[in-house]
Amino acid sequence: MHADRYQTKKQLGQHFLHEAGVVDRIVRAIDPAPGDRLVEIGPGQGALTLPLLRRILEVSGDAPPDPALTVIEFDRDLIAGLERISAGVAPLRIIHADVLEVDLSTLGKNGPIRLVGNLPYNISSPILFHALDHAASIVDMHFMLQKEVVDRMAAEPGSKVYGRLSVMLQAHARVQALFRVPPGAFRPPPKVDSAIVRLLPRAPSEIGIADPAVFSRIVKASFGQRRKTLRNALHEVCPPAWMEAVGIDPGDRAERIDVARFIALANHAAAAGG
Ligand code: SAM
Repeated sequence: MHADRYQTKKQLGQHFLHEAGVVDRIVRAIDPAPGDRLVEIGPGQGALTLPLLRRILEVSGDAPPDPALTVIEFDRDLIAGLERISAGVAPLRIIHADVLEVDLSTLGKNGPIRLVGNLPYNISSPILFHALDHAASIVDMHFMLQKEVVDRMAAEPGSKVYGRLSVMLQAHARVQALFRVPPGAFRPPPKVDSAIVRLLPRAPSEIGIADPAVFSRIVKASFGQRRKTLRNALHEVCPPAWMEAVGIDPGDRAERIDVARFIALANHAAAAGG
């Protein structure tokens, strides 16, 4: 199937990769190994799917897994093309669904999965948090996202773009920004730069968040008014004494507080009754 004949759907965030060099770099970053259970979100016309399948076959020698790859695509019009792509190459399991409705833990019931995808940018945050909800079933994730989102995900305290997304994601996963991809690598080209990011979910024991709802509430309120001091931003959520108890200066701003301190504050708040 060709992008020229297929009318891309803007509302589904369809920007198809067409640069072999970029695809090759992504496949090398993913680096499939024998026995891996790979799941691709939004395979589209298969720009990544086919090279990934070929690489999986190369590394698995005489015993290719079945399925070699599972893909989740929402657009019905792309399903037949995906079936054709995989025919005669390797067994592909195609799930025609909205990824946000797919229980990723079920896909990981025979062993943890590796998630990959050039994501639809309009729903990239919901997809990230949906994946993290199933983190126990996921080894790692390699996603193409807007570069600006990747910058925010990977930002350190003190950076202008360090915010709620940085803290929420870094609390649950190690975030590695890998490389930038220019608009010209896609058809149609998006208006923004893109980048590949790798997420390595942390084990629950490493995360150490006592009450996820309390943590989420504190992080949201802290960055809700990022120009304010924490004393003011959090005045409805926790008293300054709780901040001082975990080594946070209530006169400081959220953008200077690292993830470990936010977790400590949330745990203190949870122990004190939320
Ligand atoms: N992987 C292809 C590539 O790199 O050329 C396509 C990437 S395109 C940016 C995003 C893909 O996600 C599209 O194929 C789109 O139809 C699909 N998609 C959009 N929303 C989705 C959803 N909720 N669940 C699953 N797939 C979705």
